[in-house]
Parts: sequence; C-alpha cells; structure tokens
Amino acid sequence: MNTKHWPKVKAEHVGIGVGVLTILAFFFSGRRGTPPGLAASEKYIITLNAKVQPLARQFVINAYRAGIDVILTSGTRNNAEQQRIYDQGRTTPGDIVTNAPPGTSWHNYGLAFDAAILVDGKPTWPSEKDAVWAKLGTIGAKLKLEHGLRFGDKEHFDYHPNLTIAQAKSGQKLA
Ligand SMILES: [Zn+2]
Repeated sequence: MNTKHWPKVKAEHVGIGVGVLTILAFFFSGRRGTPPGLAASEKYIITLNAKVQPLARQFVINAYRAGIDVILTSGTRNNAEQQRIYDQGRTTPGDIVTNAPPGTSWHNYGLAFDAAILVDGKPTWPSEKDAVWAKLGTIGAKLKLEHGLRFGDKEHFDYHPNLTIAQAKSGQKLA
C-alpha cells in the first residue's frame, strides 16, 4: 500500500485531539461519584414510605448529576411534630412554615420530603424565582414526585400516585 500521500500526523495534532476529547468527556460525562448531601439526607430518607425512599435517593443523585447539590431537611413527621410546626407563626414565635394542620400533610404519611441546596456545605433556600427550583421540579417530575412550588412551597416534594390526602387520612395506603 502506498502511504506517501497520507497526511502526516504531527505530535501537536495528537495533543489537540486529546485536549478536545478531554473537553468532550467533561461535558458529556456528568458528575460521577456520591452526592455530597446524600449521607446526611439518609436520616430523613429512612423515615419515608419504603416506595418513596429509593425515589428520594435517586432525586439527590439526579440533581447532583445535573449540577445541583441537594440535601434533605425533613421527611416523615408525626402529628405532634406537624402540630408544633403548624403552631409556629400562629400561636408560637417564628414565621409560618406550613399551611397543613396535622393529618393533612403528605409528610404525615411518609410520602413527602423537603430539600435544600447545599452551598459551601450548608443548606440554603434560594428565592422561589431562582431557576434551581424549576430544575429540581423537572428532575422530581421524572421520578413522579410532585413539586410543592405549585402551592408556593419550593423545597417540598411529595409522591402519592392515585391517592388523595383524604384517602391517606382514612388509612388508605399507596397502591
Ligand atoms: Zn414539605
């Protein structure tokens, strides 16, 4: 075979090729490894309904791969805890943090969790206009998680296909 007309491969071309591949690999690989907020989220994840636990974990992982470091800050709440946070801003000091009296929150049935964005290792809650919440809403929707932003609760996600809060209250479980 006569190869004398083949272009000569020069060292600098190889270098450029490796550089381009490195950049492409960076953009197409996503982030690997363990999300920084996952371990600390477990204490809330394990309080959730067994069907919701893997979804919550996957939510933290998918957010991380999309460049968002998420940490869970709440999971299942019993009625006494729900009463305590419902009272906040009404009969006890502080800002109102929930509009759900005991028994009317998906948190009371293990079907909801709250999330924050980790910045420098600390949970933060950017303004609800911040695009990060809409991105999390989309990530959650792919896992059939409903986003609380629909009722002004940006940090809240719940999972209850074919179940109403009235049905949950009457003892009906997830299908
Ligand atoms: Zn919530």
